[in-house]
Amino acid sequence: SDDNRFFWDGVREGKLLIQRCKACGSLRHPPGPVCPSCHSFEWDTLQASGRGTVYSFVVMHYPEVPPFDHPNPIGLIELEEGTRLVAQLVGVKPAEVQIGQAVEVVFNTFDGDLALPQFRLATAAATVA
Ligand code: ZN
Repeated sequence: SDDNRFFWDGVREGKLLIQRCKACGSLRHPPGPVCPSCHSFEWDTLQASGRGTVYSFVVMHYPEVPPFDHPNPIGLIELEEGTRLVAQLVGVKPAEVQIGQAVEVVFNTFDGDLALPQFRLATAAATVA
């Protein structure tokens, strides 16, 4: 849709763009035309660092959509900028995912043109462990 086109354009360029209200500065995701805080229609985007933590997660057993691994964990990621987004967690077994784990974005392309932001455990956290 027009509301989230900037997000997917950013993903194709390897950027995680978050919508920001120009009136009050609040971040929102998923994108929408109106700021839920101040009802302004004016917005721009902020490029997120891609770092965050696992706020919560679920393990999806169905539907089994190729090319994804199953069961595959889906995280609600709290970005360090303060907003949250839902994304697949990759490179980690469902049983190993924990609330509060540090994660970082990776951009993967499927079937040649489907680019998705996914999250893996942050390298710093892996070193500490
Ligand atoms: Zn606002």
